[in-house]
Amino acid sequence: MKIIVTGGAGFIGGNFVHHMVNKYPDYEIINLDLLTYAGNLETLKPVEDKPNYRFIKGDIADRTFIFDLFEKEKPDVVVNFAAESHVDRSITDPESFVRTNVMGTTTLLDACRTYGIKRYHQVSTDEVYGDLPLDRPDLFFTEETPLHTSSPYSSSKASADLFVLAYQRTFGLPVTISRCSNNYGPYHFPEKLIPLIISRALADEDLPVYGTGENVRDWLHVSDHCEAIDLIIHKGRVGEVYNVGGHNERTNLEVVKTILRELDKPESLIKYVTDRPGHDRRYAIDPKKLETELGWKPKYNFDTGIRQTIQWYLDHEDWWKHIVNGEYQNYFDNMYGKR
Ligand code: NAD
Repeated sequence: MKIIVTGGAGFIGGNFVHHMVNKYPDYEIINLDLLTYAGNLETLKPVEDKPNYRFIKGDIADRTFIFDLFEKEKPDVVVNFAAESHVDRSITDPESFVRTNVMGTTTLLDACRTYGIKRYHQVSTDEVYGDLPLDRPDLFFTEETPLHTSSPYSSSKASADLFVLAYQRTFGLPVTISRCSNNYGPYHFPEKLIPLIISRALADEDLPVYGTGENVRDWLHVSDHCEAIDLIIHKGRVGEVYNVGGHNERTNLEVVKTILRELDKPESLIKYVTDRPGHDRRYAIDPKKLETELGWKPKYNFDTGIRQTIQWYLDHEDWWKHIVNGEYQNYFDNMYGKR
C-alpha cells in the first residue's frame, strides 16, 4: 500500500507519519510537504532513514506538480493534513487559507479522480461547527451539527469538507473525513497555546491569554488522533464523517494554570490580552460514532497527557528553541508586542 501523507512535516501530520512508518513496515509512506513556516523536517528525524519512508517537497495547490506526482507515484491512499492552520494568521491573511485549504484540497481531489484512488481522507476540524454556549454543558457537536463557521480558517476548512463530500456524490470518489478537537502532544509548533505557554513559562516570559481565559477547548492527544485516522482509512465507511474528541474539556485558563503548576512557575506570568475577534466560546465533540462503529477509544486523559507533553518539551529543547528564535519570534512580537 502506497500512502501520500500531505503536511507530514507539521504537527499532526508528522506524528501520523511516525505512527504509520513504525506500525506498517510493508507500506510505503510518502510525506508531501511545502515546508512553510509550520513545516519542520527535524520532526521526521526519527524515521528519515527507514526504508518505507520518503519525503517530497511540493505544494498541494500546484496543479501541474500534483498531477505529475500522481502520474508517477499512483498512490493507493491520500491523507490530507496540509493546511494553513492558525486562526490568528487567517484573520491577517485569509487568502493564503483559501489557496492551500480550499484550492489545495480540490487539486488533490482532481488528481485522485484522474488517476484513481482506494481512499482519500480529509483531516478536518470541529471548528467547522462553530461554537457552543458556555452555559450549556449538555450540548456537543455531532456529525449532524450544521456547519456554522466563525473565522476565515474554519470557513476554508468547511469549504474543503463540502468539496470532499461533493466529489464522493458527483464522481463516486471513495472519501472519508475526520473532524477533531484541539490536539496536543510532541512536535507542536510553538505558536499554539500549549507549547507557547510551556516555552514562554520556561523562559519566565509573559503568557498571553485571550480575554478572560474562559473559552473552553476539548483536548485530544495527538497519538489518539493518529490511531483514529489509521482506523478510519482502513475501516471507515466511504462518504462518512467521523468526529474525534478526547472528552477532555478545559478552559484556556485552566490549561495555563496546570502548566504553570507542573513547571513550578508563578501565575503572575499570566497577561490577559485583547480577545481574538469572533473568538469561539466552547468546542466539545461527541465521538460516539467513531467509538461504536470502529471501536476507537482515547488512551490519554488530559492530566497524564499534559504531564508527558511537558516532559517531552523539556527533553527536546533543541527542537523548539530554534523555531522560537527565528521568523516566528518576529510574528509573535507583531501580534503581542515586543518585550
Ligand atoms: P501545522 O500547521 O502544524 O502543519 C501544516 C503542514 O502543512 C506544515 O508542515 C506545512 O508546511 C504544510 N503545508 C502548508 N501549506 C502547504 C501546501 N500548500 N502544500 C503542502 N504542504 C503545505 O498543522 P497541524 O496542527 O498539524 O494540523 C494538521 C491538520 O489538522 C490541518 O488540516 C488542520 O486544519 C487540522 N486540525 C488541526 C488541529 C490542531 O489542534 N492542531 C485541530 C483540528 C484540525
